[in-house]
Amino acid sequence: MATPAQGIARLGFRTWYERQLIESHVYFITGFLCAVLIMALMEDLNLRKPEPLSLASLAMMVAALLLGAVAMYRYLRMLSRAEMLAEQCVCPGCTVYGLIQVLETGVVEADERSQWMRVSCKKCDRQWRVESI
Ligand SMILES: [Zn+2]
Repeated sequence: MATPAQGIARLGFRTWYERQLIESHVYFITGFLCAVLIMALMEDLNLRKPEPLSLASLAMMVAALLLGAVAMYRYLRMLSRAEMLAEQCVCPGCTVYGLIQVLETGVVEADERSQWMRVSCKKCDRQWRVESI
Protein backbone atom coordinates (compact mmCIF):
# COMPACT_ATOMS: atom_id res chain seq x y z
CA MET A 1 0.00 0.00 0.00
CA ALA A 2 1.47 3.31 -1.07
CA THR A 3 1.82 6.12 1.45
CA PRO A 4 0.07 9.44 0.72
CA ALA A 5 3.46 10.97 -0.14
CA GLN A 6 4.21 8.25 -2.69
CA GLY A 7 0.75 8.58 -4.21
CA ILE A 8 0.93 12.38 -4.41
CA ALA A 9 4.45 12.26 -5.86
CA ARG A 10 3.34 9.78 -8.53
CA LEU A 11 -0.09 11.19 -9.45
CA GLY A 12 -0.09 14.81 -8.30
CA PHE A 13 -2.24 15.98 -5.41
CA ARG A 14 -5.50 16.58 -7.26
CA THR A 15 -5.59 13.14 -8.95
CA TRP A 16 -4.50 11.43 -5.73
CA TYR A 17 -7.24 13.25 -3.80
CA GLU A 18 -9.89 12.33 -6.38
CA ARG A 19 -8.88 8.67 -6.26
CA GLN A 20 -8.93 8.69 -2.46
CA LEU A 21 -12.50 10.01 -2.49
CA ILE A 22 -13.60 7.40 -5.03
CA GLU A 23 -11.92 4.54 -3.19
CA SER A 24 -13.22 5.65 0.20
CA HIS A 25 -16.76 5.81 -1.12
CA VAL A 26 -16.42 2.27 -2.48
CA TYR A 27 -15.70 1.28 1.13
CA PHE A 28 -18.74 3.28 2.25
CA ILE A 29 -21.00 1.49 -0.24
CA THR A 30 -19.59 -1.86 0.92
CA GLY A 31 -20.40 -0.96 4.53
CA PHE A 32 -23.88 0.20 3.56
CA LEU A 33 -24.60 -3.00 1.62
CA CYS A 34 -23.41 -5.05 4.61
CA ALA A 35 -25.86 -3.14 6.81
CA VAL A 36 -28.67 -3.87 4.33
CA LEU A 37 -27.68 -7.57 4.31
CA ILE A 38 -27.75 -7.69 8.11
CA MET A 39 -31.22 -6.12 8.17
CA ALA A 40 -32.44 -8.57 5.52
CA LEU A 41 -31.10 -11.49 7.55
CA MET A 42 -32.85 -10.11 10.64
CA GLU A 43 -36.11 -10.74 8.78
CA ASP A 44 -35.33 -14.45 9.12
CA LEU A 45 -35.07 -14.13 12.91
CA ASN A 46 -37.90 -15.88 14.77
CA LEU A 47 -37.64 -15.91 18.55
CA ARG A 48 -40.55 -18.39 18.97
CA LYS A 49 -38.58 -21.22 17.37
CA PRO A 50 -36.07 -23.26 19.37
CA GLU A 51 -33.44 -22.15 16.83
CA PRO A 52 -34.20 -18.47 16.22
CA LEU A 53 -31.77 -18.22 13.31
CA SER A 54 -30.26 -20.79 11.00
CA LEU A 55 -26.54 -21.40 11.26
CA ALA A 56 -26.00 -20.19 7.68
CA SER A 57 -27.86 -16.95 8.38
CA LEU A 58 -25.92 -16.43 11.58
CA ALA A 59 -22.61 -17.02 9.78
CA MET A 60 -23.57 -14.57 7.03
CA MET A 61 -24.65 -12.01 9.61
CA VAL A 62 -21.32 -12.25 11.49
CA ALA A 63 -19.37 -12.06 8.21
CA ALA A 64 -21.38 -9.02 7.07
CA LEU A 65 -20.88 -7.38 10.45
CA LEU A 66 -17.10 -7.85 10.33
CA LEU A 67 -16.79 -6.81 6.69
CA GLY A 68 -19.05 -3.80 7.23
CA ALA A 69 -17.10 -2.67 10.29
CA VAL A 70 -13.77 -2.92 8.45
CA ALA A 71 -15.22 -1.14 5.41
CA MET A 72 -16.63 1.75 7.48
CA TYR A 73 -13.35 2.08 9.41
CA ARG A 74 -11.38 2.29 6.16
CA TYR A 75 -13.90 4.75 4.71
CA LEU A 76 -13.60 7.11 7.67
CA ARG A 77 -9.82 6.80 7.90
CA MET A 78 -9.24 7.32 4.18
CA LEU A 79 -11.68 10.23 3.95
CA SER A 80 -10.36 12.00 7.05
CA ARG A 81 -6.76 11.63 5.84
CA ALA A 82 -7.63 13.01 2.41
CA GLU A 83 -9.52 15.96 3.94
CA MET A 84 -6.70 16.65 6.39
CA LEU A 85 -4.20 16.82 3.53
CA ALA A 86 -6.53 18.87 1.34
CA GLU A 87 -6.78 21.54 4.03
CA GLN A 88 -2.98 21.83 4.09
CA CYS A 89 -2.44 21.86 0.33
CA VAL A 90 -3.27 25.51 -0.20
CA CYS A 91 -0.10 27.46 -0.92
CA PRO A 92 0.56 30.01 1.85
CA GLY A 93 2.24 32.26 -0.71
CA CYS A 94 -0.14 32.47 -3.66
CA THR A 95 -3.19 30.52 -2.27
CA VAL A 96 -3.32 28.14 -5.25
CA TYR A 97 -4.93 24.82 -4.31
CA GLY A 98 -3.33 21.43 -4.81
CA LEU A 99 -0.46 22.32 -7.14
CA ILE A 100 2.30 20.83 -5.02
CA GLN A 101 5.44 18.87 -5.56
CA VAL A 102 6.68 16.49 -2.85
CA LEU A 103 10.30 17.28 -1.99
CA GLU A 104 10.98 15.17 1.09
CA THR A 105 9.05 12.79 3.35
CA GLY A 106 9.44 11.39 6.83
CA VAL A 107 7.67 9.89 9.81
CA VAL A 108 6.64 11.88 12.88
CA GLU A 109 8.68 10.28 15.66
CA ALA A 110 6.03 10.55 18.37
CA ASP A 111 3.53 8.59 16.26
CA GLU A 112 4.88 6.21 13.64
CA ARG A 113 1.59 6.23 11.73
CA SER A 114 1.83 9.97 11.12
CA GLN A 115 3.87 11.20 8.20
CA TRP A 116 5.13 14.56 7.10
CA MET A 117 6.05 15.91 3.70
CA ARG A 118 7.97 18.98 2.70
CA VAL A 119 6.25 20.27 -0.40
CA SER A 120 6.70 23.17 -2.75
CA CYS A 121 4.19 25.12 -4.78
CA LYS A 122 4.48 24.47 -8.53
CA LYS A 123 3.36 28.04 -9.20
CA CYS A 124 5.53 30.17 -6.86
CA ASP A 125 8.08 27.65 -5.46
CA ARG A 126 7.22 28.43 -1.83
CA GLN A 127 7.92 25.48 0.49
CA TRP A 128 6.02 24.31 3.56
CA ARG A 129 5.45 21.20 5.66
CA VAL A 130 2.32 19.03 5.47
CA GLU A 131 1.40 16.31 7.98
CA SER A 132 -1.00 13.42 7.57
CA ILE A 133 -2.28 10.55 9.71
ZN1 LIG B 1 2.25 29.23 -4.45
